[in-house]
Amino acid sequence: VWSTVHPAADRASFDPVYDALIEPTRKIEAWLELQQQVEGWCDCCGKVVPLRIDAGPRFAHHPSLRAGMVCPRGTNARARLLLRMVRSLGLEQGRCALFEAHSPLASALKELTPLEMHLSEYVDGGVPSGETIMIANRPVTQQDMTATSYPDKFFDVVVHNDVLEHIPWHHAALRESGRILKPGGVLMFTVPFFIQLDQSVQLASLGPDGRVRQHIEPPEFHGDPIRGSVLTFWHFGWDLLTSLRDAGFDIVELRMSFDPFSGIMSDNHPAIRAGNNPPNVIFGRKARS
Ligand SMILES: [Zn+2]
Repeated sequence: VWSTVHPAADRASFDPVYDALIEPTRKIEAWLELQQQVEGWCDCCGKVVPLRIDAGPRFAHHPSLRAGMVCPRGTNARARLLLRMVRSLGLEQGRCALFEAHSPLASALKELTPLEMHLSEYVDGGVPSGETIMIANRPVTQQDMTATSYPDKFFDVVVHNDVLEHIPWHHAALRESGRILKPGGVLMFTVPFFIQLDQSVQLASLGPDGRVRQHIEPPEFHGDPIRGSVLTFWHFGWDLLTSLRDAGFDIVELRMSFDPFSGIMSDNHPAIRAGNNPPNVIFGRKARS
């Protein structure tokens, strides 16, 4: 059962699979969280390596296995899952947009897929999309995910990794991904997904004056390699899949895959229904016509 991909088009088809898997999974996770390091297969390293368990944020006493289980090359559980999902597309050529640069996932995708990678970052401050800027003494292309500089129908794959929850207008970002994908092209991304929420919760919004309105206190910030920390605007639930369908994607699924032997596990929160984020990638295929 481990490493199987379980696709769900909605919560009704997800819940029974999750309920069957969660008990054995919790036992493994409860053991893992007590370890400093375990040996495991890493897709990006291509061999068995030491995985550092407690390398991400913590939830009370529990290390986030999803942001931890970090391999010597720096990929964590969710980056490892994204890498695996992109490789499983089996594309022999094509273009891939990744909305991060100079990251362990970026180098793994460059090295381990035949895809032509287009890497970018986003920094605030009115830098136009497509412009090259210096971040930490390295040149990086700026791209605003809601208005990129990429042409229509340009990419075979679009990938992002815990970015969408930081975008106030996430519908615009999904439509933009649809615009830059070729017909039949694939969008794959991770977000902190709240499996107990039918409707996403908006934590904050951005007013026409450009000022943040906080709807739920306290504000939630996530660590960011470029900007230090970024505000979270959304806690996504199952209506996110509807948003993808509205944005022109025809096959839309949450694809869950636990694989403890390859360092792919959940957020490992004991209050499972209240915040556990099982290892998953949101998948959307752009309609062919
Ligand atoms: Zn690795």
